[in-house]
Parts: sequence; structure tokens; C-alpha cells
Amino acid sequence: MTSKKTILVVDDAPVNRCILVKILEADGFKTLEAENGQVALEILAEFRQEISLVLLDLAMPVMNGYEVLEKMKETGILTLIPAVVTTGGDQENAEIQSLECGASDFITKPYKADVVCHRVRSILRLCENAALLNQLETDRLTGVYTREFFYRHAEQMLEEHPDEQYDIVCSNINNFKMINDKYGMLVGDELLRCIAGHAQECMQGEGVCGRLGADAFAVLRKRRPLRTQEEVGSLYTKTYQNAPVKNFIMQYGVYQVENRTLSIAAMCDLAQMALGSIKHKYGVYHAVYNDSMREKMLREHQLCNYMEQALKERQFVVYMQPKHCVETGIIAGAEALIRWSHPELGFVSPGEFIPLFERNGFITRLDRYVWEEVCAILKRWMQEGREMIPVSVNASRADFVSDDLPQTICALVDSYGIPHELLHFEVTESAYTDHPQQIISAVSTLRKMGFLIEMDDFGSGYSSLNMLSELPIDLLKLDMKFVQKGDGLLPDSKRSVLSFIVSLSKWLQLPTIAEGVETREEVELLKAMGCNYIQGFYFAKPMPVESFETYMTDYEKNHPDMVHKKRELSRPLAGTQDSDRTLVLIVEDVACNRELLKELLEPDYATATACNGEEAYRYIQEHHSEISCIMLDLLMPVMDGFQLLDLMRTDGTLEEIPVVITSEAGSDGELRALRLGADSFVAKPYNPEILLHHVGKAVRERDFRKLRLQLERKSLQGGAEN
Ligand code: C2E
Ligand code: MG
Ligand code: MG
Repeated sequence: MTSKKTILVVDDAPVNRCILVKILEADGFKTLEAENGQVALEILAEFRQEISLVLLDLAMPVMNGYEVLEKMKETGILTLIPAVVTTGGDQENAEIQSLECGASDFITKPYKADVVCHRVRSILRLCENAALLNQLETDRLTGVYTREFFYRHAEQMLEEHPDEQYDIVCSNINNFKMINDKYGMLVGDELLRCIAGHAQECMQGEGVCGRLGADAFAVLRKRRPLRTQEEVGSLYTKTYQNAPVKNFIMQYGVYQVENRTLSIAAMCDLAQMALGSIKHKYGVYHAVYNDSMREKMLREHQLCNYMEQALKERQFVVYMQPKHCVETGIIAGAEALIRWSHPELGFVSPGEFIPLFERNGFITRLDRYVWEEVCAILKRWMQEGREMIPVSVNASRADFVSDDLPQTICALVDSYGIPHELLHFEVTESAYTDHPQQIISAVSTLRKMGFLIEMDDFGSGYSSLNMLSELPIDLLKLDMKFVQKGDGLLPDSKRSVLSFIVSLSKWLQLPTIAEGVETREEVELLKAMGCNYIQGFYFAKPMPVESFETYMTDYEKNHPDMVHKKRELSRPLAGTQDSDRTLVLIVEDVACNRELLKELLEPDYATATACNGEEAYRYIQEHHSEISCIMLDLLMPVMDGFQLLDLMRTDGTLEEIPVVITSEAGSDGELRALRLGADSFVAKPYNPEILLHHVGKAVRERDFRKLRLQLERKSLQGGAEN
């Protein structure tokens, strides 16, 4: 069904309007009429969505045709609705002038029906084509070129400037999906518009910008001197100060156009390849394409082609590396590490294939293979009557994407009849940063099922402190590489980083495993600091399982004194919590609420109670160094929660002790209390899991505060001694 198009006829002479209306309506158009420019503009303002074309007389009272054209141009209407000028036929200048003013065409009087209709129809067709083209040419959301048109215009620019040097820059936002999820699509769209706007601004009219898809933009621009990572980092931080999302990270891949015979699409691929080489590398904002990237890509391609076959043919082999107890020297556990021995390629390093399989998703299948292999080994050891040690396997971030991971693992391990505590899972710190909620929930379930969780490569990422208070873990693995590498760090600073991490884990009551330990000095140093376990070449490299079995037997033969020592790589501190340290003060006027809270908390914490702010304040003054967290009701007689917060803020105890507010949801009390310095909020009626989560967080937070204070004091003392 074709809907009738509406033409606005603007003429001061009723007879002219009448003729035009008749001609147009006879040809299937709808019409609107205006007797001068002023009225025409009013009609345009109201019906601009419906009007397809304006037939405009030039000489009119009130406002003439030229003025109408000017106004239409100013308001942007003229780019959407074409105007055709009607003239007396003897006014050649007027015709030229009106075309210069933006009219699309002119028609001369006296009107001939077929000429009028023909002109109107052809102008309408032209406009429709242009609109269609425009729609394809520019991206609707951001206004920059679409992919195809970017390629076309970029190619044209290179052709027109054969002697100029150009770069193709492709950009990408880290975790754009997360931004959409967290802030909503509208904010995500706004961010994309903002990025497109800046990209266009910075080309200064001397380049071409396009959106290749989602958050991927490409720019062809004149070559500029390369900036350092820091310069790029601080430049975009400045540029996006006013962006709708703060702290998002963008990375850029650059292809310096050398080979002009390549298509623009191929050039973009090279820039994308450079971009891919820095994905997940923190603090690295841009990379310039070079030939080694291409070789790497080809090699990765080859590995991908071989992976399925390799799994089928069992080319992947599990190696094991022992973990020794620092104090007793015994072998307390082992880590299973995968090796790939390919019939043609030879040995392929996990450092090469693991990151690749993490990207293409194959890692989930490989990990399951490793877990099953380890189960089979453990089962054999049990059947052979060997002394059992826990073996840890690595879990990649991709494994956590599936919701039923804990159930799958449980089913697998149970099918081999292995006690759960014999299997540990190593989860890297960086995995957590990518999917915090998913990982926390899976890891919590796994722990409830009796598996142990080791945090791998602790200290390598960003979020360390923050994350530790959130993630339920049993052991902390500290990679010596990060300390050894610590470019430019003085030996003393390395020592204090190590010592900080070891004391941190002590505070959190987490045993530490140092991995990558190579020398006697490192062993001694770690021992002095109180690290619990050591894994590294100092004791042994990862080895095939048979060799590992021999290693265990031999090691104990050579160290007969160790045989009877308890073998344990577990949660040695769990259940031995010092009740002083985890004292929670419950401040609540309603007796049954107090009881409920006590009941919920007491399996894990010691509690003290107060019925109002005043009583609580007295208790805090006497016991502030023992209290780990305060659960505070807001509405109470005598002294309410707000007043107590205020007092605590004044005397400094609020800085020391975290406060979790409990109150009815929906009141503005939450905001007020948080503004007064409370740490978090739990709505009544309590959900036990949420409540324990917040208390746990607060308690850990308290540990950090204590530790920080202690370290500060230490460094002050050190300063005084020097
Ligand atoms: P990781 O889990 O942190 O494993 C420790 C790495 O340090 C291993 O490297 C180990 O061989 C190496 N290493 C141990 N002691 C020393 C030492 O004293 N000095 C030095 N320089 N290195 C030492 P490997 O086996 O090459 O594995 C590298 C990474 O690949 C692992 O780091 C782990 O993240 C990943 N990986 C290995 N196997 C698997 C697996 O089955 N699944 C998954 N998802 N990842 C795996
Ligand atoms: Mg590991
Ligand atoms: Mg590690």
C-alpha cells in the first residue's frame, strides 16, 4: 500500500494555489496551502513529518520565498524536505538566486499539469534515493561512515593523496558488553556517540572515520609521531572526561599504511591484529602492527587446526609439580600442569596455547580433560594404597561461564569416588576481575561441596585487596615472577612487597604458597616471612606423573625424618578463629531482632549486644580494638543509629570499625547513614546469606584497616630508627 504524499503549496494568489492543488490532487498527491511564508513555516513546523515537498512562490507579502528558504535552511528542514520554486518565467535571476538559496528546482507559470507533476515526482525520487544512500552511508547511531562507506572513502582518500603518509587506527572498548549490562543500552549508545564525535574531531577534517561494528571504530588519518603508552593513556582520559561512563578502557591498534595495494579491509585486519595482541594487557593502550604479529596469527591458526585431533589422540599430557611445606619440608600437594607434545610441531608451550584456547573457548574442554585425568590418577593412587596428597588443577575464566560448573565437577569427581578435599582448583586473580559475580557464586558452591580454592598468580593483577575481601578462597598463591621481575624495584622493595603479601594472607588467615621459587635464598627469605608452602624449580620442575610418583617415593626415602609428619595442604586455620578478632557488636532495640542476629552470626563470630546507641557507644569506647564490625539499627530510643554514627565519626572509631546498617528497606535512612560514614546496608527482614556476606566483607575490611595501621606504624618506627 502506498500512502499519498503531501505537498505544501505556498502562494499569495488564491487562483494559483487553486490550480496547483487541482493538478497535484489529480495526480494522487495530498495538499496543504499557505498564503505567505510565515504561514508556510508554521505549517512546516507542525506537519514536517508528513510533508514531502514545498512548492514555493517567491513574491509574497509578510514573508517572501527567499526568506522561507533561508529559514528552512537554518532549521535543517531543507535537508529533509525539498523546495521547488514557482516563478513567472521571465525572472531568470530569481530562478538562479533561488537555486543558490537551496531550492531544488523551479517551475514556471503558467502551469502545465504534466510538467508540474513530472518535476515534482522526479525531485521526490531524487530525495528518496539520497536519503536511502545517506542511511547506508552513515551509521545511524553515531553519524560516522558505515563499514562499507568507510572502506570506500578511505580508499578514495589514499588515491587522492598518493604522497601523504597515513595510519589506520582501529579502536575497541574493553568490556563494552559489561558497560551495556551495567549502565544500560542507552548509556552504552551515548558512549559510542561520544567516541565517534571525538574521533571525528581529532581528524580535523583530514581523515575518514567509520564504525566497523558494535564498539569497533576505524580511522584513516595522516601519520603522526607515535606516542608512548602513558601519553595515549592520559590523552584519552583527558578526552573522555565528560563521557557518560567513567574509567572505561580503550585500546588502539595501528597499521601504518605501507602497502597501498592492500584493500582497506585488509589494512583494518592488520590494525585489528595489533589490537588483539594487547587485549587484556593492563596499562597497554596501543600497539602498532608488525610482521611478527602476522606470523603469530598464522601459528595460532595452525594450532587451532590441530587442537581437536590432539585432544582425541591424547597428545595433551598431565605433568605434576610438587608443593613442599616450608616448615617440615614434606610434599604437601602437587599442581597438575598440562603439556602438549605434537608429532610434527614438537613441544608446544602452555604459555602459547593456553591463552589461545582461552580466547577460542577450547580451554573448557581441555580443562575438563585435565580434571578427569587427575581424577583417574588420584583413583589409581588410592587403589595402589599410596599416601594421598591433594592435587590442584587450573580453572580458566571460561570454565565459569557455564552455570552448572560446580555440579559438573561434583558429578565427575564422585564418579571416580575421590574425596573432594583431594582436589583443589586454582583460579587466577584476573579471572575474577572479568566475571566477579559468576566466579564468587561458583567458587562458594565448590567450597561448600568440600573442594578447596587456591587463588593463583596473586599480586599480578589490579584488584588484589578489594577482591580478597569478596572472594571465598582457601589458599593464596603468590607468584615469585611478579616479585622477581618487579622491574627496577630495589631488593628492599621486593622484600617488602613479599612481606606485605605474606602478612596480608596471615591476617586473612589464608595459608600462602609461593610458586616459581628457584633459589635457596628465596626459600630462606620466604621461610623467615612465614610463608607456608613452596612450589618451584628449587625443589622440582613439573614432571610426568610416573616421574612424580618416583620423586615422592625417593624424596621420602631420602628424608626419613619427614615420613611421620602430618601431610596437610588445607585450611589449617579454619575453625581456630580467634574470637577476639571477630567480635561483632549488634546494636538493636528490638529483642527478637537481636536474638535473630545473634543466632545468624554466632556459628562464625563472637557477638556482643547493645539495646541503643548510648549503650553501644559506651561499649565501643572500652572495646574498640576488639570489635571487628558493628551491625547497627537506625531507629532506636535513647540514642538512634544516626547519632551513634555521628559520635563515632567525631572520635575516630568509625574510621577504625566498619558499620553495617540494618533497617527497613525503602526509607531514605540508608542514604543518610551511608553519608554519615556507614560501610554497607542490609534491609530488614534479613536475608541470612546477604547479611553474612556483608558482615564477612566488613570483618575483612577491618583486617585491612588494622594491617594498614600496623604497617604504617612499622614504617614510622623504621623511619625513626634510621
Ligand atoms: P600457573 O598455574 O601459574 O603455573 C605455574 C607455572 O610456573 C607453570 O608454568 C610452571 O611450570 C611454572 N613454574 C613452576 N616453578 C617455576 C620456577 O621455579 N621458575 C619458573 N620460571 N617457572 C616455574 P607452565 O606449566 O608453563 O604453565 C603456565 C600457565 O599455563 C600456568 O600458570 C597456568 O595458568 C596455565 N596452565 C597450565 N596448565 C593448565 C591447565 O590444565 N588448564 C588451564 N586452564 N591452565 C593451565
Ligand atoms: Mg596454577
Ligand atoms: Mg600461578
